[in-house]
Amino acid sequence: MRIGHGYDVHRLVPGRKLILGGVDIPHHLGLLGHSDADVVTHALMDALLGAAALGDIGVHFPDQDPAYAGASSLSLLGRVVELLRQAGWQVGNIDLTILAQQPKLRPHIPQMRQNYARVMGLPVDCISVKATTEEGLGFTGREQGIAAHGVVLLQPLGPGAGPG
Ligand code: MG
Repeated sequence: MRIGHGYDVHRLVPGRKLILGGVDIPHHLGLLGHSDADVVTHALMDALLGAAALGDIGVHFPDQDPAYAGASSLSLLGRVVELLRQAGWQVGNIDLTILAQQPKLRPHIPQMRQNYARVMGLPVDCISVKATTEEGLGFTGREQGIAAHGVVLLQPLGPGAGPG
């Protein structure tokens, strides 16, 4: 097996959507970025690429490339899973942690898990999404940004686990 870790931060600003785990979450601030700035999906993709030693999302989806302006991070995640499959890896499980002071994320976590299950072709019980505050401390506590960590396990594709 292979383990991977990813970490990402995006700044909170007015006039942007707040997309986390592919869920459009009502909030007066959103995350700034070239794509949809889905910080937790970015941490997940970096964990997946890291586990396979395939670089990071900046290598595969450069933010200077206009092709990725406003890109759906969930669709990029689907491409990362395909890259892993081509390299002979399948995802075992994922564990994600979002660090945000506001808004309350718990009501949105079931939909995030469903989104990842659909895009990654995994059972929901292999997908963990957690959220925590940092008790008002630091940049997440001051609501200047949202951070996320991702940890994943990859397994070699088994015999018979061919394309498809
Ligand atoms: Mg990012």
